[in-house]
Amino acid sequence: MRAALFYGKEDIQVKDVPDPTDSCDKILVDIEWCGLCGSDLHLFQHGPEVFGDLTKHGEELPYALGHEFCGRVNSAPPGSGFKHGDPVMIDPRLPCGQCIECKSGKDYGCPKQGGIGYNHSGGLAEKVTVPARNLHRLPETVPLEFAALIEPFAVVMHAIRKLNISDWTEQDVLVLGGGPIGFALVIALRSYKPRKIIVSEPTAVRREKIAQFVDLVVDPLERNVPAACRQLCAGGVDVVFDCAGSAPGLVDGLDALKCEGKYMNIAMHEKPMTLSALPLALKHVTIIFSAVYNATDMDETIKLFAQGTFHGYEGMVTKRMLVDDVVKEGFKELIEHKDDHIKILITPKAHLIEG
Ligand SMILES: [Zn+2]
Ligand SMILES: [Zn+2]
Repeated sequence: MRAALFYGKEDIQVKDVPDPTDSCDKILVDIEWCGLCGSDLHLFQHGPEVFGDLTKHGEELPYALGHEFCGRVNSAPPGSGFKHGDPVMIDPRLPCGQCIECKSGKDYGCPKQGGIGYNHSGGLAEKVTVPARNLHRLPETVPLEFAALIEPFAVVMHAIRKLNISDWTEQDVLVLGGGPIGFALVIALRSYKPRKIIVSEPTAVRREKIAQFVDLVVDPLERNVPAACRQLCAGGVDVVFDCAGSAPGLVDGLDALKCEGKYMNIAMHEKPMTLSALPLALKHVTIIFSAVYNATDMDETIKLFAQGTFHGYEGMVTKRMLVDDVVKEGFKELIEHKDDHIKILITPKAHLIEG
């Protein structure tokens, strides 16, 4: 099979490798589409060490990256509940299943978390074997050509649900960043019908793409974001979602919050976050962090995709390509022209591109 093998920092080579073999507890999946994620880019640019323990204790390099992928079952052991041809979405998480977090239903917080496409061979290949528990069957109403987006949507659904807000129609929201996670968040959040959504995004392409889904898009390099929020929403916003991970964004977001506002961070800040306590204390701000999701979030996200609850996610896909082109047209394109893209989808099947 063809696979884009990750050897280490800035070294991915597309090669013919032996097919993975299905075993009694694993299911062989033919991959159709795999999304490129910021974390794949991170691994490519900085090497496996960048995620510390996440990329230890797994397979030996090289293996295929890619954790946002869907496909069809090639073969499944009897009794697994799956059969040849079933459309499936992969939950790439590999929590240990033994620790306190795993046993108390918080496996998203497993300290020994591994992942398909992180420390085990993933979606930038023709085939992969995965444990049955990592597969979610897709209803026929979910188009496979967009199903890989379910993974980043599960990330944002987890963050939205974690806020425990019962009535979103009373909430004004500021979203920092209109990249893949910010875009998915806006689309998902719209189904909750918040009163207002404002997006702060410095790049023109992304501002243009997201404008139709929100009440206001602000260029933070041109305009004072907290002032724009206070102008549109009396007193500021109730909730900020940080999908950008930038220091000026953090300052803007905290400033834009009303008294008792909530700051939900989904971004990976590369530098330590610096906060001034007094203004936040006086406003009684709550800061919450969220990452990944659990199986329920993914099931729920699939259900919402199947019901047609989310509108506009198609616009997230800015490029599709063959796995053979993933280095030059995928990784390097994202490094050199990151701002022109939201989500790039990769397939090993030429007919899916041509058709
Ligand atoms: Zn991802
Ligand atoms: Zn665990």
